[in-house]
Amino acid sequence: MTDSFERTIDYVRIAVTDRCNLRCFYCMPAEGIVYEPQVHLLSYEEITRLLHILGGIGFKKVRFTGGEPFLRKDFIKLLENTAELEAFKSIHITSNGTLLQKHIEKLKSLNITKINLSIDSLDNKRFHKITRRNDFDKVMQTFHKLIDNGFRVKLNAVIMKGINTQDIIPLAELAKNHPVDVRFIEEMPFNGGYKPNLEMYSARDINADLKAHYSNLKKLPSKHGDTASLLSVPGYKGNIGVIAAFSRTFCTSCNRLRISAKGEIKSCLYDDGVFNIRDYMRSGASDEELTAKFSEIIRLKPKNGFEAEKMRKAPKKAMQSMSSIGG
Ligand code: SAM
Repeated sequence: MTDSFERTIDYVRIAVTDRCNLRCFYCMPAEGIVYEPQVHLLSYEEITRLLHILGGIGFKKVRFTGGEPFLRKDFIKLLENTAELEAFKSIHITSNGTLLQKHIEKLKSLNITKINLSIDSLDNKRFHKITRRNDFDKVMQTFHKLIDNGFRVKLNAVIMKGINTQDIIPLAELAKNHPVDVRFIEEMPFNGGYKPNLEMYSARDINADLKAHYSNLKKLPSKHGDTASLLSVPGYKGNIGVIAAFSRTFCTSCNRLRISAKGEIKSCLYDDGVFNIRDYMRSGASDEELTAKFSEIIRLKPKNGFEAEKMRKAPKKAMQSMSSIGG
């Protein structure tokens, strides 16, 4: 399906839970957020039905995220169901890596080998300061196990002024010996509303640090739907990416829809939810009606994140926790 700006929309990101076992300070307050009761979350049957419908209108790629997807009981069951859907050849997961290790063999058997891992620092103390938890060793173990088992891993690091800019080069250096894309992300205001605001460390700042360190950095061509501008260092096994998530410079090639754990569809990360598909399904909508609704939402997808933000109802300011949106 194409939207009114001729963008092909074929990628859906689904939050399977709003719960998380880390407390990254840029995402939620130390005490956590108010979680939705279980019955408010989309059930696996509902998610599978939505995927079936999206597959029917040309969606090819799905990413399961959250919250922490591996916290949800029977997440593996959902993966098994999804792996059976003809349309979705490309199944991806974003995880903090704390609970994933024991599922590696199962993921391999389902041919789910594309994992994004979040790790904002290679320093144990800084990792703890950012996530408010002591899971650094576990996450690094997961990273190495995934690589050793042939997974295609992307590392996500949110870079914040005065917090972890000194991690940019050490993280980028992981791409030297490992076939991993290390991606640096601008902080966005999605922190649950408790944190006043960002002192931006922009994609431009991150690029400047990389250029200062690597004199031979090369820009790689971008592919359909890429949010990261990709760079390579000759001789390195992996690549380096910079994601201008707050500057929003990649909206012209956007190919995605998001569905939150409680069924709120976001046609842009910066809108405040355009339609609740859970309620529509639970009120008895037929597959045809659901298909028509998705088509309408895609047609009305805003031009970019700035337009989406302007169209917000209340609150006007984007501030929900990424854990409830589905990062
Ligand atoms: N629990 C999983 C994880 O940690 O990757 C998936 C959910 S998490 C919300 C998804 C991604 O969103 C993570 O890479 C996280 O760093 C990023 N994220 C959360 N809050 C953010 C913010 N305010 N700005 C930028 N990225 C954010």
